[in-house]
Amino acid sequence: MSAVVGIDLGGSKIALGLVNAENAILARRRIDTVAEAGLDNVITRIAEQVASLRRELPKGQAITAVGIGAPGPVDHISGDLLTLVNLPGISNTPFRRVLSQRLGLPVALDHDAKVAALGEFHFGAGKKRDSMIYIVIGTGVGAAIIYEGRLIYGESNTAGESGHMTIDPNGHPCHCGSRGCLEAYTSGPALSRHYATATGEHIDGAQLAQRAQAGDRAALQVLNEAGRALGIAAASLAMTLNIELFVIGGSVAQAGDLLLKPARETLPGYAFKAVSARVRLRASQLGEDGAILGAAWLARARSKLG
Ligand SMILES: [Zn+2]
Repeated sequence: MSAVVGIDLGGSKIALGLVNAENAILARRRIDTVAEAGLDNVITRIAEQVASLRRELPKGQAITAVGIGAPGPVDHISGDLLTLVNLPGISNTPFRRVLSQRLGLPVALDHDAKVAALGEFHFGAGKKRDSMIYIVIGTGVGAAIIYEGRLIYGESNTAGESGHMTIDPNGHPCHCGSRGCLEAYTSGPALSRHYATATGEHIDGAQLAQRAQAGDRAALQVLNEAGRALGIAAASLAMTLNIELFVIGGSVAQAGDLLLKPARETLPGYAFKAVSARVRLRASQLGEDGAILGAAWLARARSKLG
């Protein structure tokens, strides 16, 4: 029986999981990214962790492939990392090819939102569905669209940039240069900013969720506004694509129903009744494991294709 390694390459941490043929995570490793140390350094430290995971396998078993979810933009065909604002040290590098040569194994690489979506689709909240939209809300906001079992990339690989769909043309300015984007209402930094505007106090997204749970009115209002924006975005996506399951992941989604309830209440106001009645907004089931299991799935799928 063969195992694969799923890797979640993040801005500050790299999480690795050894995944068996039954899609269970047998062992994990977590290291700092330190992208500024450069490509060779990052590749060497990942290869050390893969070697250490290999030693966890029973005799006679081997690691046959590796999958990686990386913050975008990426070229999912070549596996090159493009210009990553948060990871300048490994930007514009042939990451997949260099890691594959170092390990002597097939390596698959794709955008982290798409990889986490694959995890939820095959093993989590989207199990047994044909289509699903995954929206990740954290430091940034992105989406992955799975239609009839396949990820949609678009004609030039930008499908799923739903964090920058317009919710309100007169709304909050967004760092992309536009105004009223979904991200400007829902990302962790946006929530912190809106809370600071209301109260003069600077706290992060996780603290804000805790305060909302404890009944802090300003925190509840900020999450309510975020949920309303999410509901409007989901209504437009559902009207366009007629996909009925939305899975919401990322650190802000840990606020759970404080975010999802206003989204569910807002959605019917912006979509046909026949459409909104069938739409379901669910929290992700796998949390951080979604990226590891999705990367493992991708590793098997792409290595089968050769
Ligand atoms: Zn924007």
